Amino acid sequence: MKISFSKEHEAFRDEVRTFLDASLTDELRAAQRACPGIFLDYEDNIRWHRILHAKGWVAPGWPKEYGGTGWDLVQRYIWTTETTLASAPSLAPMGLGMCGPMLIGHGTQAQKDFYLPRILSGEDYWCQGYSEPGSGSDLASLKLAARRDGEDYVLNGTKIWTTHAHCANRMFCLVRTRAGDKPQHGITFLLLDMDTPGITVDPILFASGTHEVNQVFFDDVRVPVINRVGEEDQGWTVAKYLLEFERGGGGTAAHRSALERVRRLAGAIPLDGGTLLDDEDFKAKIDETAVQLEANQFTEFRIMAALSKGQNPGPESSIMKNLGADIGQRITELAVEATGFSVLVQPGGEAGDNRPWPGPDGAERAFSRYFNLRASSIAGGTNEVQKNIVAKLVLGL
Ligand SMILES: Cc1cc2nc3c(=O)[nH]c(=O)nc-3n(C[C@H](O)[C@H](O)[C@H](O)COP(=O)(O)OP(=O)(O)OC[C@H]3O[C@@H](n4cnc5c(N)ncnc54)[C@H](O)[C@@H]3O)c2cc1C
Repeated sequence: MKISFSKEHEAFRDEVRTFLDASLTDELRAAQRACPGIFLDYEDNIRWHRILHAKGWVAPGWPKEYGGTGWDLVQRYIWTTETTLASAPSLAPMGLGMCGPMLIGHGTQAQKDFYLPRILSGEDYWCQGYSEPGSGSDLASLKLAARRDGEDYVLNGTKIWTTHAHCANRMFCLVRTRAGDKPQHGITFLLLDMDTPGITVDPILFASGTHEVNQVFFDDVRVPVINRVGEEDQGWTVAKYLLEFERGGGGTAAHRSALERVRRLAGAIPLDGGTLLDDEDFKAKIDETAVQLEANQFTEFRIMAALSKGQNPGPESSIMKNLGADIGQRITELAVEATGFSVLVQPGGEAGDNRPWPGPDGAERAFSRYFNLRASSIAGGTNEVQKNIVAKLVLGL
């Protein structure tokens, strides 16, 4: 099937390309290409965020009246694809992709007026305080205690795996205000300032050495009651609404770029008078992944079509979450396999040899990407949990 754009959408694509040529510096492109993990460093992230904000293009997913672009879904698709192909920094989703849409749906007018402009400008950088030790997939079992004291809640306990808590100045989080008859009852949704006394952020390093996640400790932390979203004890509804946006998909363009990088890597590795790309077995693996990527693309189009009718992402976003995690990991496996060939054909490599990486450009990042992307089938809800959601809410099993 060939999908082509209308004349208006082609003109929009040209406008996007012109903007990217003019505004996306080589430094920012290089930072994105070198990013070994899931999230880009705060500094590069926020630099690109501010450029987009100045242009009015920072929140394509938001309604226009809240500062969104008013683009239709095809324009948003073009935007995601073009920025990915140009290696533009991928913006952190916690504020723009999660907290903002959640506040638009559930926040008070005062919360919207205060927080939304600060998310758009980049003045506020958010982290997500959902998971706790022992409460990840079984999120409703969370224990971080919030005791009401006058016009404040007083928080004691801990959150874990909190992405970029070490850079964020705000956190949206789930706390336990009551031991409910069901675990989902008695959870409350709060917004808090990360510089509130009593908060400690401890780093957790990935196996590759990358620092993205943290454990956050709360010791008598006071949070004003006006920072609550929704009713006391009713935060579960808000939490689930936000997760639909977290699992919204849209990553096929990034995977396409990543597969292209593996192709280029394989094409630069000499093998049997040709390159690794001429190897039947390796080429078959790349082609198989490309076919799967096409299938993902059409699933993404189907979800976009549902969204264009004004629906929220819905539980179907769990399908994209899984497909995206699987293919992202598959591509890192291919890169590692290609890198292995590169090492085989290089001379040297004796014990203690500390010469620079012998393979082609990009090969040196294959291993950290491989390790870091193991997390993509865990973060945001594990693949198994997404399958349970699909079985129950999509297939009705
Ligand atoms: C890189 C990274 C970033 C993260 N960032 C954040 C963040 O910013 N904020 C935040 O709040 N959390 C974050 N998380 C936490 C993430 O949401 C949890 O790790 C995830 O929900 C899984 O929970 P868990 O780690 O407690 O594993 P568990 O829930 O203990 O799961 C262990 C294993 O059991 C399986 N399992 C559990 N329950 C079921 C079931 N019912 N059916 C079938 N299998 C099941 C799981 O699939 C998994 O394989 C992040 C995690 C990672 C890895």
